[in-house]
Amino acid sequence: MFDPKELKKDFPILNREINGHPLAYLDNAATSQKPQAVINALSDYYSTINANVHRGIHTLSEEASAQYEAARARVAAFINAKPEQIVFTRGTTDSVNMIASTLRPKSVAASLLEHHSNFVPWQQVAEDFQVFIPQARSKTECHASTASPSNNPDLLAITGMSNVTGEIPQIPETNAKIFLDAAQLATHHQIDVQSLNVDFLTFSAHKIPGPNGLGILCSKDPDALPPYQFGGGMVRQVTSQETTFAPAPGRFEAGTPNIAAAIAFATALDYLEDVGLKNIADHSTALATQATEILNQFPQITIQKLTKNTTPTPIISFTIDGVHPHDISEIFNQ
Ligand code: PMP
Repeated sequence: MFDPKELKKDFPILNREINGHPLAYLDNAATSQKPQAVINALSDYYSTINANVHRGIHTLSEEASAQYEAARARVAAFINAKPEQIVFTRGTTDSVNMIASTLRPKSVAASLLEHHSNFVPWQQVAEDFQVFIPQARSKTECHASTASPSNNPDLLAITGMSNVTGEIPQIPETNAKIFLDAAQLATHHQIDVQSLNVDFLTFSAHKIPGPNGLGILCSKDPDALPPYQFGGGMVRQVTSQETTFAPAPGRFEAGTPNIAAAIAFATALDYLEDVGLKNIADHSTALATQATEILNQFPQITIQKLTKNTTPTPIISFTIDGVHPHDISEIFNQ
């Protein structure tokens, strides 16, 4: 049975007190806390397996390689992709930089809701960079009139869910390649890449509730991309004259990857599915609704949204008239 109070016991950090109060952690959009099972998976890996992957034929290396690839398959199953479509990166930011540097699209349209990670890298590589205001996903929920990109960009960068407002933009009809930043979406919705018509999708393990330093990049056609970084682990054959590269996804994982994080992330996904993604989503919607109702009782408080959509979202940003956000945060922390 889904019991949030019982589940709190799985998160050792929630035993902490801050300023004399039991920790109430509300910064999940930035990063999530880790259940004991994930912490144990990291510790177990280092205590019992620790070896480099795909580089040795001794037992530890073979076990590490098998678990690392099992983690890739676990992630693929989580979003209904094929394992060869999944590249382990350092995080969402790294995934965006990887595609920006390898694809080097000449013209990019990014939505105004983007995190800097899905904005600045495109702005750096594109000769023509435009920003558009996205439409909320459900027209009935949204009163704002909004726009699609005006010309035909090579690539459209759009978030699956805003990290600031929790809004879910509609993916515009386009011939451009679509890069979907699912860093927040993946924590609140079951993702099925087969039904999402996007070319690239990324998210970070640390938000859902896996270890730091690991990201997932899922590409529709990974073999169509050139390598990102060069070095060990991504090659097929090296001579003094030339190098040929391993097939995807290995060719995108130069150097020693974050093996422990990948393996522990598989545990995080098992944990989420044991608890039930729908249970978590329903609970966060209930909390968001309650928080929105309370905040709306104060006329000085404005919940910030790009659209005039009043449906509660599981990520809430608000301002208080005449009070600097820094002071609000400081006082609430106390
Ligand atoms: N995109 C969104 C929507 C995010 O919420 C975040 C993290 N706040 C990022 C990108 C960047 O993720 P990371 O720092 O893990 O690379």
